[in-house]
Amino acid sequence: MTSEKTTSILVIYTGGTIGMVQSPKTGALAPLTFKNLYRYLPMLENFHCKIDFYTLKPLLDSSNMTPVFWIKLAEVIGEKYESYDGFVVLHGSDTMAYTASALSFMLENLNKPVIFTGSQLPIGMVRTDGRENFINAIEIASAMTDETPIVPEVAICFENKLYRGNRTTKINAEHFGAFLSGNYPLLAEVGVYIRYHQEAIQKPNFRKIKVHRELDDNIAILQLFPGINPQVVSGTLDIPGLKAVILETFGAGNAPTTPWFIHHLKEAIHRGIVILNVTQCKGGTVDMDKYETGVELEKIGVIGGYDITTESAVTKMMYLLGSGYRGKELEKLLQTNLRGEITV
Ligand code: ASP
Repeated sequence: MTSEKTTSILVIYTGGTIGMVQSPKTGALAPLTFKNLYRYLPMLENFHCKIDFYTLKPLLDSSNMTPVFWIKLAEVIGEKYESYDGFVVLHGSDTMAYTASALSFMLENLNKPVIFTGSQLPIGMVRTDGRENFINAIEIASAMTDETPIVPEVAICFENKLYRGNRTTKINAEHFGAFLSGNYPLLAEVGVYIRYHQEAIQKPNFRKIKVHRELDDNIAILQLFPGINPQVVSGTLDIPGLKAVILETFGAGNAPTTPWFIHHLKEAIHRGIVILNVTQCKGGTVDMDKYETGVELEKIGVIGGYDITTESAVTKMMYLLGSGYRGKELEKLLQTNLRGEITV
C-alpha cells in the first residue's frame, strides 16, 4: 500500500563514519553511494516523506572541515530552502558541533529543521548506530504541527537525543552517546514516542531566510593551564592579522593574576584584539565578578562569554567578524543571544 508523501526532506551527505560501508572484497571502509543506501536502510522506501539526496563533495572526514565547506553547505541549504520542508545533514561526529554551530549563525531566520546526524560505527556494520540516528533525524526533520515544523532550528540528533546544535560538544570518542549539551536542555527524546520539549525549542519567526556567507578565520583559541608560560601567551596574541581570541579560562571565567599574564592581555586589547572569556568547564557560566581572578580580566576589557561553548564561540566570532562588526557593536553582539547559543 502506498500513502501520499506530504513532506519532503533533503539529506545532505558530507562524509564521516555514517556513510561508510565495508568492501566485501578488501574489508576496507569506503563511502556509501545513495544507490546502495536503500540496501542498508530498506525501510526508507516506506517512509511517510519524500527523501532526496545531495552529496556535497569532496566527502570529508570531518577533521578536515573548514569554513569554506560551511559556506558551501549553507549555500546548498539556501538554494534548496523553498523546495524542502526540512534538511538532514550527514556529518562526521568529530567536528559536528562546530559545523552545526556555524550553520546556526549563518542561516538567519531559519524556520525549517536542519538536523545533523552521524554515527560512531559505519552504516554498513551490523551493530551500527547510524541506522537509528539517520531514521530518527528524518522523522524529526519532517515532523510538523499545523503545517509548521516542530523543530525550526539547527539541531544534532544522536543516540535518541535531540540537542540544540550551538549548545553541543562532542565528549566521547567511543560511546554511542557522544554529545553533551551542558547548559541547555534537550530539544527532544526518542523512545517509543518522540517527546518534543516545546518550551526548549526555538519558535519560528516566519521571516525570509538570510544566508550569511562571510566568515573571518583570523581568530585563535588560547586554553589556559597551570604553568602556561609567557611564550605561549605572547606567541598566540602576536599572531599577525589576529583579530580575536577565545580565552578558555578556569571555572567561572578565572585566570592567573600574575602581572606578566595580565600585561600581555591588556596590551593585545589595546592593539584592538578582542578577547572573549569562555569556561573550560562543560557546564556553567562565566561570571567575572565572582572571584578576584576574574575581576582582573574584566577590568582590562576581556569580554564575558556567559555559558557559550567553545565551538559556538569560535563560529560566532568568525560570523560576526566576517559580517564586519567591530568595537562596541561586536562586544554587544557577543553578549547577545543571537540563535539560542547563550543564556544571558
Ligand atoms: N572521524 C570521523 C569524522 O568525524 C568520525 C565520525 O564520523 O564520527 O568524520
